Amino acid sequence: MIFNFDNSYLSLPAELFAECKPTAVSRPQVVAFNTSLASSLGIQIDAENEAELVEIFSGNNLPKGAANIAQAYSGHQFGHFTRLGDGRAVLLGEQLTPTGERFDLQFKGSGVTPYSRRGDGRATLSAMLREYIISEAMHALHIPTSRSLAVVATDEPVYREQIQMGAVLTRVAASHIRVGTFEHVARFCSHETLAAFTNYVIKRHYPELTASENPALALLEKVMNQQIDLMVNWMRVGFIHGVMNTDNMTISGETIDYGPCAFMNAYNPETVFSSIDTGGRYAFGNQPQIALWNLTRLAESLVPLIDVDTNIAVQKAEKLLNTFQSIFEQKYIEMLARKIGIYNFETNDALLINELLNWMYLNNADYTNTFVKLMYPDSISDKIFEHESFLAWKNKWTVRLNKDEKGDFSALEIMQQNNPVYIPRNQQVEKVLSDVTETGQLASLNTISMLLSNPYTTTNFDKKAMEAPAQAIEQVYKTYCGT
Ligand code: AMP
Ligand code: MG
Repeated sequence: MIFNFDNSYLSLPAELFAECKPTAVSRPQVVAFNTSLASSLGIQIDAENEAELVEIFSGNNLPKGAANIAQAYSGHQFGHFTRLGDGRAVLLGEQLTPTGERFDLQFKGSGVTPYSRRGDGRATLSAMLREYIISEAMHALHIPTSRSLAVVATDEPVYREQIQMGAVLTRVAASHIRVGTFEHVARFCSHETLAAFTNYVIKRHYPELTASENPALALLEKVMNQQIDLMVNWMRVGFIHGVMNTDNMTISGETIDYGPCAFMNAYNPETVFSSIDTGGRYAFGNQPQIALWNLTRLAESLVPLIDVDTNIAVQKAEKLLNTFQSIFEQKYIEMLARKIGIYNFETNDALLINELLNWMYLNNADYTNTFVKLMYPDSISDKIFEHESFLAWKNKWTVRLNKDEKGDFSALEIMQQNNPVYIPRNQQVEKVLSDVTETGQLASLNTISMLLSNPYTTTNFDKKAMEAPAQAIEQVYKTYCGT
């Protein structure tokens, strides 16, 4: 197998990472491998040689040019600052693709590192497969995300609430640099290191900012805009990250660290699926506010670089962050307008949109399926869509659509580009995970992967895959966690 590694992170000051190798595992077995991703990354694979595949993606045999480092970072977890670092991840290397892009290839669950603290450095097969399914679904939904290249099951038992099968996931991201990495450098390293690191990040992710008058402030603005777009995207499809700690928020604007995340079924901004989020800090509707909270931590870390005068630096950062809310609100409402097929958003449309959201909330209507019903009236048969209240809203909506001038796309086409038909629903994903971990059957994994790879499909609906769970089932998934 041939990689094209160029490990730029190794050129940074040594306090930003620790050298370490994956811990060898016994009897590894490939459970999932993303051939098309491997090929777009330009990794040359000998398809005949499955032994090599399993040796490399279990971490047992490192390819030439591998980086072998765990990255240092800190973070605010549920609002509290903690020193962290890759406790169960190892950077295999930075792959340069045939089109000149750079991606981190990172093992997750590959054993202890100098940052493991009391953790075992391992991950369960179930959680790694879940990350594989959901991250690839997010990619197919056109949402920036880390991707999943391989899941290799191991014979090592992993002790969680019960003994579970272990696995190593290979994930791929533009980088794993987090808001928490900046917090770490700002708090524990010298001014020179902070400046060098920031410079590195700008060059790696946003080289166009190098020439700006105030690169650190420009970086903050860029990350803010990336995160606004990401939040709007998450809310477009009903995604709840579940653990938006500052160490789980990237500088690249990609979704990372899939833990107790889930897709909302019935529309309710207060929806929380993670059992550890008892206060609802990371509830569906809170995500934009938390993104701003996290960006404020990034801003604090960048203060020494924004201006030599701290007061002036703070003023500049505050002025910028004060624009978050209005930029987000505008993009959010325009996104919702597109979900109902409106291309030329007018201020009045906000009323129509909010009426629909309210209707969904009051009637426990499924978020995804309500928009599917609007696109394809014959697709979903649920009595609530026969209610007078829904039909009345639909009439107003039809009048509004008829008023829109014809653009490049019809209302239906706009909706089709924005409203998924398939999302990874918890009860379906759980079924796949138990099929794989309990019986070794991969058929349902392949079926769900295929459906989720084409979420905006316009024909031949799989009605079973579109089914929303009854409320009672949903409660059970609230307790899901354990990664
Ligand atoms: P997460 O909640 O997955 O973002 O992880 C938060 C921190 O805990 C990170 O520093 C992880 O590397 C670390 N961590 C999570 N699980 C483990 C584990 N099983 N062993 C060691 N460290 C872990
Ligand atoms: Mg994390």
